Amino acid sequence: MHVVIVGGGVIGLGIAWRSLSRGIEVTVVDPEPASKASRVAAGMLTPVTEANYGEDALLRLGIESRDRYPSFVAELEEVSGRDTAYRRDGVLQVALDSDDLAVLDELRRFQESLGLAAEALTGRECRRREPMLAPSARGGLFAPDDGSVDPRRLSAALLAAVDRLGGTLVRDRAAEVLTDRDRAVGVRLAGGDTVHADQVVLAAGPWSHELKGLPPDAVPPVRPVKGQVVRLRGPFPLLGSTVRGLVRGSSVYLVPRADGELVIGATQEEMGYDTTVTAGGVWELLRDAHELVPGVTELAFAEVTAGLRPGSPDNAPVLGPSALPGLLLATGHYRNGILLTPVTADAMADVIATGEPPEVIRPFAPGRFRD
Ligand code: FAD
Repeated sequence: MHVVIVGGGVIGLGIAWRSLSRGIEVTVVDPEPASKASRVAAGMLTPVTEANYGEDALLRLGIESRDRYPSFVAELEEVSGRDTAYRRDGVLQVALDSDDLAVLDELRRFQESLGLAAEALTGRECRRREPMLAPSARGGLFAPDDGSVDPRRLSAALLAAVDRLGGTLVRDRAAEVLTDRDRAVGVRLAGGDTVHADQVVLAAGPWSHELKGLPPDAVPPVRPVKGQVVRLRGPFPLLGSTVRGLVRGSSVYLVPRADGELVIGATQEEMGYDTTVTAGGVWELLRDAHELVPGVTELAFAEVTAGLRPGSPDNAPVLGPSALPGLLLATGHYRNGILLTPVTADAMADVIATGEPPEVIRPFAPGRFRD
């Protein structure tokens, strides 16, 4: 069995690694692996903190993936010899004024109705947990099982694991899917070469619909949703764990790393494929972060980046066999691609090996948009 995977972000690389572990031959095609959303993302693993009405199936998938993280990274770190900066030390959500607190109360009731673990805290309890929080913090919610990972380290570890298990990486763009008797049998590269395979996996983020040669009902309905992120750096971590803030209705998050990096995100913009970093985007992020944790302005400015989330019509991923036999889709992970890497990688490796999507990804079948 040989599979060609189009796209070497966390999703394509995760599937590649898990497939190689099962003895499947893998070729990953990407002109610049791990350079897009998977490089920009903050790496929050926060299904409970970000629970939304009407997204119950996505919430269950997120919790399933979050709970697979410890064994996924333990195995990955062993195979690759690289650290992923994974941590499961809880996420604190903080409200700055009484309207923000009302929103958090509503979220707490929703979390409780689903039996999710989250603890309501007063402003003082929030500051006891995170002494650098602004004195004006009104209250919060602590989700003890949510956490974070460094997506750049995760991608580097996945690349190393793919290499170590004998996967092939082709640094070119896939231009067209090759078909034979109405079945996908490989891809033609932009450089003109072809890669033949038994199955093709399309995991090219928001570019997944651009591949030529797809019948219309096999084209994934994905679009780019821009997000800007600021990275600051200090001599030691400013926060004990990830903090998400509601600052007068606008939301911001701060993700600390053990090495002193602090990631502040993120804007949500429908701007097509534009990845310009704007003064307004950076200002909004720093303004809200400073209201929540005034000490951020003491840190060194390290980097600002913009990336494109692969959005889908229902904000959930598109996973499994497509309308074209031999072509599998693994895209549309939107705001949660880092969180959903373990469950996507395992489930897609299952589909590749057996032809059957496991129960856990059935609600996310590509066919759900056809009607
Ligand atoms: P990408 O990382 O975009 O990778 C797609 C790859 O496909 C690229 O490497 C590209 O070069 C390649 N490609 C494109 N076209 C072709 C082609 N024709 N041929 C070959 N290769 C091709 N998720 C979380 O879980 N937690 C977070 O905290 C979080 N924060 C985020 C913050 C921001 C600002 C953004 C933008 C995203 C964030 N995300 C987060 C979402 C997450 O980053 C994405 O869902 C995830 O990275 C998607 O991974 P991917 O591999 O599908 O896409």
